[in-house]
Amino acid sequence: MDINQDIAQVLITEDQIAGRIKELGIQISKDYEGKELVLVAILKGASIFLADLVREISIPLSFDFVAISSYGADSRSSGVVRLLKDLDESIESKHVLVVEDIVDTGWTLRLSYIVENLRSRKAASVRVCTLLDKPSQRKVDVGIDYNGFTVEDKYVVGYGLDFNGKYRSLPYIGVLKPEVYGGG
Ligand code: 5GP
Repeated sequence: MDINQDIAQVLITEDQIAGRIKELGIQISKDYEGKELVLVAILKGASIFLADLVREISIPLSFDFVAISSYGADSRSSGVVRLLKDLDESIESKHVLVVEDIVDTGWTLRLSYIVENLRSRKAASVRVCTLLDKPSQRKVDVGIDYNGFTVEDKYVVGYGLDFNGKYRSLPYIGVLKPEVYGGG
């Protein structure tokens, strides 16, 4: 079975992703020159983006991971977000760049939760870099400082993004065939 066969359409190719990440890497290297930079990726979706992004940043850096659980649909009303995996190192006085896979509605509150949480630990700065932005669905304003691509209102998979835990390993961003998610 080949997972590529479940994809109806490729929205962003592997080459386009690589090209944009190069640009982001150059910009981030410039913006953080002379500063102590820590990239904090939110598991699991941002892991592949992080791996490629750090290799395009030329200044010294370190990176760390957090895992957050938001309780599905409930979190939209309750705002309950739980930290499942915390940072390994202190970020006090460091410049933190949070690396996220996609910002959609902003409703799950994971991004604003993590930004507030990291700010409270006396980081010198906390900014956000997302691979994808889906602004058409935005309900809660979340500040994005670096954005890879703006995407239309479609459920996308690949390059770290999953559907039921699968498709993260696709090297491109695509849309599933309706029959795969029960829409057909
Ligand atoms: P938000 O709170 O911004 O609506 O949700 C953000 C999170 O929902 C993302 O980090 C991601 O885990 C998930 N998500 C939102 N849109 C998509 C999408 O199109 N595809 C996938 N795979 N996950 C999505």
